[in-house]
Amino acid sequence: MAFLRNPGISRRWASAIAVIVALAFAAPLRPEPALSQAPGHPTNIDNLVRNFERMAFPEDEQFEDWGTIKRWAKPISAVIIGDGGEKYRTKLRVLLSQLAALTGLEFLVPEADSAATTQIFFSERDWYASQAARSFQRPEQVQCFSNTNANMFGEIQTAFVVIPNDLRADRVAECLAHEIMHTVGFSGHPQRTFYSALGNGNSPEVYTVNDLILIRTLYDQRLTTDMMRAEVLATAREVMVDLLERVNNSDNPLAALAQRQPINWWEFGRPGNLGDLPAARF
Ligand SMILES: [Zn+2]
Repeated sequence: MAFLRNPGISRRWASAIAVIVALAFAAPLRPEPALSQAPGHPTNIDNLVRNFERMAFPEDEQFEDWGTIKRWAKPISAVIIGDGGEKYRTKLRVLLSQLAALTGLEFLVPEADSAATTQIFFSERDWYASQAARSFQRPEQVQCFSNTNANMFGEIQTAFVVIPNDLRADRVAECLAHEIMHTVGFSGHPQRTFYSALGNGNSPEVYTVNDLILIRTLYDQRLTTDMMRAEVLATAREVMVDLLERVNNSDNPLAALAQRQPINWWEFGRPGNLGDLPAARF
């Protein structure tokens, strides 16, 4: 079989990748100090709120009051594209099944899907390097990256992840957890002491209990995408107080945090004053 430089990457996606200032997962510059938390132990409420703010709002809007949250409001269909990606399908399914429980949304991993909402590219190294060089100041530190596009209602429409196909397997696993968490609405990164798959450096290849709480919070019905930052944070604190109590009273954090019934996010997440707009959703 002929080797295509970028199998399956359409012109549209390639150009999107080229122009973005994407979310990078930087390689560690030096060994990280040992993290003090086990994956099974959540941090305290103040740390959760502080890092929810850092992660749910874009880093370039870190000091803006008008920022709003972004999240999916429709089923997610994630496809793996490119040589070398298929062997990570099971890992991807595990991550997405956790996200399905936490968000109340359906996550699919079809073999191929022209209507995929999320594309996970395993790209040749030279192509990856050229894209990273365009988008990042220190491309040699960028192990993998992603980009997420939302509409005016704060509803994420499409996302992609790019991972070089010669990356070591453990790094790929970290990249998947990290970048997929970006694509569900967390564009920022936590403090270095906050144990999370979105930490830069040696981050875990699974979602920590902190991550589970933050993801579940972002998709809580009490939060809406038209809230301003202060209201988001006050509401997120209320939500996380409840969720922490659930986690602390359970030996299965994921089960304790799972959405209890399917949610029609199309109807729920939309700002109320725009509810009468025609439903041109697809
Ligand atoms: Zn990142």
